[in-house]
Amino acid sequence: MRGRFCDGRVALAHEVRVEIGERVLTIAALDGSALAHWPLAEIERDGAAFLCADATLTIDDPEDLSRRLPRPSRRTDKPWRLVALLAAAPALIVLIWLAIPPLARFAARHVPMEAEIAMGDSLHFQILKAWPACTGPEGGAALWSLTSRVNGSDQTRPRRVMVVDSPMVNAITLPGGTILILRGLVDKLDTPEQLAGVLAHEIGHVRRRDALAASVRAIGVGALAAIVVGDASGIVGTAAGSLLGFTYSRDDETEADAQALALLNRADIDPIGMARTFEMLEKIEGNVPEFLSSHPDSSARAAAFLADRQAGRAYRPALGPAQWQALKGMCGGQK
Ligand SMILES: [Zn+2]
Repeated sequence: MRGRFCDGRVALAHEVRVEIGERVLTIAALDGSALAHWPLAEIERDGAAFLCADATLTIDDPEDLSRRLPRPSRRTDKPWRLVALLAAAPALIVLIWLAIPPLARFAARHVPMEAEIAMGDSLHFQILKAWPACTGPEGGAALWSLTSRVNGSDQTRPRRVMVVDSPMVNAITLPGGTILILRGLVDKLDTPEQLAGVLAHEIGHVRRRDALAASVRAIGVGALAAIVVGDASGIVGTAAGSLLGFTYSRDDETEADAQALALLNRADIDPIGMARTFEMLEKIEGNVPEFLSSHPDSSARAAAFLADRQAGRAYRPALGPAQWQALKGMCGGQK
């Protein structure tokens, strides 16, 4: 049967052909090349759409597929959990070691990237249940285009970047390099240069693999283990809550800011945006966003971004007005 498929990385939907197998749903482009294989046990229905990880599929006859999905069962017959556990087992051993703070940074550099990605994706999958991805296609395309520009040609790029529907004012980088921008932050930003600064800072964390060490410090080895084996239903709230309190070290923050300055300069984006972001965040009470958590001196950080500005340089706009409006509205407008 025919359908439309959005892989969640680039927010464009493709026309696809869908085949339902015994245990696996195969999604192929119209030229026959396979785009994704979804184990039926992992597919969730959301209205007219079907979800697996952060990808979305809509088809002409959703009832037909719905009937063939296994009944949801939380604890049994989930082969992916075993796969995730096996993939992550070496990482778990290292993670126990990670709990010893002086070795955290050293160990984080030696966890295999595939294990870190498996862990981050499990966490991401759980988080998306609480904070659904905002899927406005023009906004998604604008976000990806801005991210690519800020990242430049460096091979170490974010795994994916998305806006998720949470009222909190924050941005989070997960282990493995997924960057989540929370809708509450997007609502508070007035210019795309402010968002470019946030992206540049988070890309700094991705390149340094700060999130792995920070997540262990935040939620502990036991909680991470539960997330990796997929039985995290009871601790999702706790984990997501703890991630909001991610504590990067002062050095992590200083280094991420330094990377952000270099990236913005190379991308020809005015660093005044990030200075304005820090000034805005400073005024927010309650939940302290990640970028401020371990570094209360945000006015000094704003000043560093202002000092980097070159007088008389005509910076290129981070996004055009239509792209910015699409991005601001991609969760369905302000709530
Ligand atoms: Zn940070």
